[in-house]
Amino acid sequence: MPPEEFRARAHEAVEWIADYLGGVGDLPVFPSVAPGDVRAELPTSAPEAGEDPSRWLEDFRSIVVPGLTHWNHPAFFGYFSVTGSGPGILGEMLSAALNVNAMVWRSSPAATELEEVVLAWLRELLGLPEPFDGVINDTASSSSLYALAAAREIAFPEAHARGLFAMPRGRIYASTEAHSSIEKAVLTLGFGQDGFRTVEADDAFRMRPEALARAIEEDVAAGIRPVAVCATVGTTSTTSVDPVARIAPIAARHGAWLHVDAAYGGAAAVAPEMRPLMEGWEQADSIVVNPHKWLFTPIDCSVLYCRRPGALRAAFSIVPEYLRSAEESEVRNLMDYGVSLGRRFRALKLWFVLRYFGREGLAERIRAHVRMARALAGWIDDAPGWERVAPTPFSTVAFRFVPRDADAEEIDVLNQEILDRVNASGEAFLTHTRLRGSMAIRLAIGNLKTTEAHVRRAWELLDQAARASVNERTATKT
Ligand code: PLP
Repeated sequence: MPPEEFRARAHEAVEWIADYLGGVGDLPVFPSVAPGDVRAELPTSAPEAGEDPSRWLEDFRSIVVPGLTHWNHPAFFGYFSVTGSGPGILGEMLSAALNVNAMVWRSSPAATELEEVVLAWLRELLGLPEPFDGVINDTASSSSLYALAAAREIAFPEAHARGLFAMPRGRIYASTEAHSSIEKAVLTLGFGQDGFRTVEADDAFRMRPEALARAIEEDVAAGIRPVAVCATVGTTSTTSVDPVARIAPIAARHGAWLHVDAAYGGAAAVAPEMRPLMEGWEQADSIVVNPHKWLFTPIDCSVLYCRRPGALRAAFSIVPEYLRSAEESEVRNLMDYGVSLGRRFRALKLWFVLRYFGREGLAERIRAHVRMARALAGWIDDAPGWERVAPTPFSTVAFRFVPRDADAEEIDVLNQEILDRVNASGEAFLTHTRLRGSMAIRLAIGNLKTTEAHVRRAWELLDQAARASVNERTATKT
């Protein structure tokens, strides 16, 4: 694509992006497509001869965009709601244009050094102490995998040469509420399902430290090595917070690595008054925080902070001759901290985000989200028939509709119906979870364009859907 053609098309694309960001709130947040609809509109093979950009940009507009769930919509309340903010998008655009690969310092010195600087800034914004050394990965799933690989390296250093099969049994502990990425990491690292022990949670879905201590003691007595404990600050289902300050001494007593999954909740530490929720995380060996969740950075951007970066390097550093360089003892080669060699220049977008908003701007926006979640929590608490099923420490509310005279099965069906009705409206998008076997609806706030009016409207839709479902049921029964 010659530069002049690129310039014209890029202007067109930027116009489209600006219009999209300004008007996404008017689109249906969830598309009305059935499985296979989008595929059916696309050719099954790539074109033989190149096509004019106007044709593929038009297909993007008319086929792809209408088939998307709009995560950048102010009424996107599913999973964890996120924002691809303007400054972050600019960073993505420029890093795509540069297309540098920051695998080693020499392959892109500024990309490596900017990552170091920006992660030191973020560490300070989060109130974490200096020994934490950061590295950017694609996702929290990768960050946790790498942290646990480092834990394995410490627990079974001889496994590096001999493999895990010759080693005694080892276990990694997490609460029943931990994200599935932890178990996936345990499996990937060769511990098997037997190497993953879930620890009971309390009424507020927080890991019970006494249950953790008991589990580890039982395992130690049986000759099983406690390799790592994973605590979560902001669990996926309810955003519950494991008591890290009480978990840390238990892990330390048994020589187990402490990993804190703060993929979602960690961002809230930018607002100092939220930091009691993270109490004790400074004692962790590793912490994951995802700027692509609640720090307004486009996906993908996950930060792994590690107190023992040497353990990460021990797990991952293999330097073939063609990647050797004269300066390698003086610099950081990012390839040494994880599985992938090639890496995108993700620090750029995070740098832009931090500079655009500043500490105060980020904190204000986090606070606004928390305020809206508290308002919704209050409306739910005051509404007959509705109940909150978990505390609301951050910006996500978990709740359900519980009409009188309905049994557990009916309540589940009814809540699924409510969710389906709201999502079919296209006005708001929410997702669900299961808590102690029962269905619960989640409403997660994390988009910068979300206002209290959007949350209020979602609440009206939920309540209307509940009444409509109850009326239908009554009508079919009589
Ligand atoms: N940890 C927690 C607590 C999460 O909620 C999630 C995803 O929602 C993850 C980890 C995985 O995040 P990622 O998609 O970045 O792998």
